[in-house]
Amino acid sequence: PRIPLLERAANHARAARSPALVVLDGSEFGYAQLLRDASELAAKLLDGKSDLAEARVTYLVQPSYLYTVIQWAIWIAGGIAVPLAVSHPPSELLYTITDSQSAIVIHHSSFSSKIAEIRAQIPESARVIELEDIAAQPWQGAALDEEVAWTEFDVARRALFIYTSGTTGKPKGAVHTHLSLTTQAKSLSEAWSWTEADRIFNPLPLHHIHGLVNILYCCQWNGAVQEFGPTRFDPKWLWKRFSSPERNLTLFMAVPTIYARLAATWETLEPSERAKATTSCSQFRLMVSGSAPLPSTMFDKWVEVSGHRLLERYGMTETGMMLSNPYAEPRIPATVGHPLPYVSVRLISPDTGTDVTEVVEGDGGEVRVRGDILFKEYWGRPEATKDTFDEDGWFKTGDIACRTKDGYFRIMGRASMDIIKMAGYKLSSLEIEREILDHPDVSDAAVLGVDDPANASEKVAVVLVPKTPESPKLTVAQLKDFLRERLAPYKIPTEILYEKEMPRNPLGKVNKKELRKVFEKKA
Ligand code: ATP
Ligand code: MG
Repeated sequence: PRIPLLERAANHARAARSPALVVLDGSEFGYAQLLRDASELAAKLLDGKSDLAEARVTYLVQPSYLYTVIQWAIWIAGGIAVPLAVSHPPSELLYTITDSQSAIVIHHSSFSSKIAEIRAQIPESARVIELEDIAAQPWQGAALDEEVAWTEFDVARRALFIYTSGTTGKPKGAVHTHLSLTTQAKSLSEAWSWTEADRIFNPLPLHHIHGLVNILYCCQWNGAVQEFGPTRFDPKWLWKRFSSPERNLTLFMAVPTIYARLAATWETLEPSERAKATTSCSQFRLMVSGSAPLPSTMFDKWVEVSGHRLLERYGMTETGMMLSNPYAEPRIPATVGHPLPYVSVRLISPDTGTDVTEVVEGDGGEVRVRGDILFKEYWGRPEATKDTFDEDGWFKTGDIACRTKDGYFRIMGRASMDIIKMAGYKLSSLEIEREILDHPDVSDAAVLGVDDPANASEKVAVVLVPKTPESPKLTVAQLKDFLRERLAPYKIPTEILYEKEMPRNPLGKVNKKELRKVFEKKA
């Protein structure tokens, strides 16, 4: 057997229907070149050996053609790919390099000073390899003519570590196999009707499941075209790209903060430019949001901006995507739809340990999942791995969800961070945030439970970001007035803290543990 993704890629390379990748300056790279360059680099990594035998290879390189070559080279050589986060400071890079026990550390020459800072702490036994960008060869007609030298392997082999976002603790290396990655790509391809005719711009980092599996692998699985842009996300540039007439994009996938930034830029455009931007969105057959909750206000805003009803889906590093709104509508805001192909999902009550059958009014249950999409283990953490599966082999996500009357799943938040325990109630901070975000003077909100020792409970607190620096700051009484008609009285926050900006990581996730400390310090 061969590596499924690369076997498919070889077919795309033989057909040479379209380039694999297009970069900022317009250079196009074909699937054939990709396989050839990857085989060549694989030989260098093997350095005379016949198989890297699951040795970990970390690599630090911007989303680029080189990135994809490195990733495939590692697989062809029989190693495990461990992408490093380009946004990480040297100390965090070192954490990933040592935690994964990397045998090889690859970096692009632009990161040599970052690597130099930690070079002395990288184990002597590790090979450090510096690489330069690879130039494009015209892909037209450059079909693959020779055979690729494959390493024998089976699909249960470890293929990739993705470190979790570290929202709730130290990042953990989630180990994916070729089987789990392939199943994820197959699942999304079927659910969202990917074909070789698709073309997608990738605005996301490639050390995380969203940009890597949902975009890059799905592209490669289907022989579609992927584009990279400037290294820093630039909403103005992206609107220009959307409006450039010659090469239509068919798909767009991003996190809610990217949609918010695109919408904010759209607001600043001249009326004629704005109309042009809106019209440009008709090129897409689908626009997807995920990785963090999409506020209903953002859903509505995006309909106004683009005419598209965003498809919200839910997933995590350990599982890939689990739940998705339907590709054929109706897509319902504040829900994440139904289980994806090859995925089984159930909700288990934290109180009774049995399946939750009631709909939205209840407390909901923990999302548990089974299927070939699942990761194999947390690297070097057998206890954490054991704890995260139940007796029947279902993965425990730690997220709480319920079902709407229509049978759509709704994410209520993380049991450990977003579910507020108050006087016998379990409140979903996501539900409260959705209502607050409807307030015209608020641009961002994070609701959390903080200790309320006087009542031996938690109380509801909220961190708010004003719409503009001039927007009035709400008092607790004003917020209460606004929310009275929308939420039960006990769900209304009794503490407000204003921040200029919400502390979010690059994927738009709020670290509520840190925010809680700010409230505790204040008390
Ligand atoms: P760590 O596990 O290290 O604490 P993390 O859980 O944030 O970090 P990820 O695997 O990147 O790392 O994030 C997955 C989590 O993101 C899910 O468990 C869920 O809480 C949240 N999430 C993803 N998509 C959605 C969504 N559509 N709505 C609400 N929450 C979502
Ligand atoms: Mg997690």
